Amino acid sequence: MDCIFCNIAAGNADTQVIFENENYKAFLDINPVNYGHTLVIPKKHYDNFLTVPENELNGLIKLTQFLAGVIKRSLNADGFNIISNNGTSAGQSVFHSHFHIIPRFDKDFAMKPETKTYSENSMNEYAGKIRSFVTKYEDLLNAKEN
Ligand code: AMP
Ligand code: ZN
Repeated sequence: MDCIFCNIAAGNADTQVIFENENYKAFLDINPVNYGHTLVIPKKHYDNFLTVPENELNGLIKLTQFLAGVIKRSLNADGFNIISNNGTSAGQSVFHSHFHIIPRFDKDFAMKPETKTYSENSMNEYAGKIRSFVTKYEDLLNAKEN
């Protein structure tokens, strides 16, 4: 198995497990942004957020919410980031879909990317471009899982 997270899911790689059941596993990130930084994965391999089937995504998000609360309380964190990097350009380095839970503290460094300013009309144009695809693909949102 080439995928490190598939190996972790199968119990074949050394890691600090936070939670595990039949479908999901959560473990400490080996290079944490803050101590307690946790990764939540489906045990089945999906390359990224877009390819996780709806039923598994629901469970993954629910578990991520639960663990975020647990991590916040257990580490006395003031907040947390939930992050999913998708694609190399977005910083994804392991191509097995996962959520990061990063505990944050008030005196923490800011992890906010530099922001841009829309030029005149371009906000309208971007929204229009995205909206036209929402309309085009809306059926996918309402499609029932079979
Ligand atoms: P991303 O860059 O969003 O794909 O996140 C992948 C994360 O996996 C990085 O934060 C890595 O530090 C972490 N990582 C890579 N290999 C391991 C491993 N063997 N055990 C725990 N975390 C890992
Ligand atoms: Zn995998």
